[in-house]
Amino acid sequence: MKKLVLASNNPKKMQELNALLAPLGFEVIAQSQLGIPEAEEPHCTFVENALAKARHAAKLAALPALADDSGLCVAALAGAPGVYSARYAQTAAGEPKSDARNNQKLLAELDGQANRAAHFVSVIVLVRHADDPQPLIAEGEWHGEILPAARGEGGFGYDPLFYLAEYDKSAAELDAQTKNAISHRGRAMQQLIARLPGF
Ligand code: IMP
Repeated sequence: MKKLVLASNNPKKMQELNALLAPLGFEVIAQSQLGIPEAEEPHCTFVENALAKARHAAKLAALPALADDSGLCVAALAGAPGVYSARYAQTAAGEPKSDARNNQKLLAELDGQANRAAHFVSVIVLVRHADDPQPLIAEGEWHGEILPAARGEGGFGYDPLFYLAEYDKSAAELDAQTKNAISHRGRAMQQLIARLPGF
């Protein structure tokens, strides 16, 4: 088995990635298992933040590293909340993240706005080592519209506000299997897996 360190401490992501990558001969290890602290995410693009996280983990683990960065981009808000999606409603450093407050803020920002187009982005990066000059970069998008009020109980983050006309459902009303098959993260993962054999 080839070992890969995952630059995330999210146990759900770990499980999902291990299930996908084990058949390809990769064993995924969380950076926390190696005592590696979370990296800074100082950049204004997903790809730069994902690369920063992957390089940090690869350097400290001395192993190949996988990292992802994702968020919601709203057309009428010039792509906001973007890389700040997790902490959109945060007003002070150290304040806990809250999906409910993020969603409230998004609805307030779009009050009276006719253009509700939005898309999720997921960028997944794999580096062979910290100075890898040619990282593997996979990107997935998922397009929809922002609803005027939350719908559904599933998912997380902005899912209750993200409407998919082709299903007449919000992302929070989709079952997990459907969401994984069509979401930004699912698409980026499929792309990454297709390119892994040559890595
Ligand atoms: P992270 O990449 O896991 O840190 O996610 C960044 C933030 O983007 C999350 O905290 C959510 O607010 C938002 N986000 C990313 N992916 C999704 C999704 O699939 N559904 C809803 N919100 C998401």
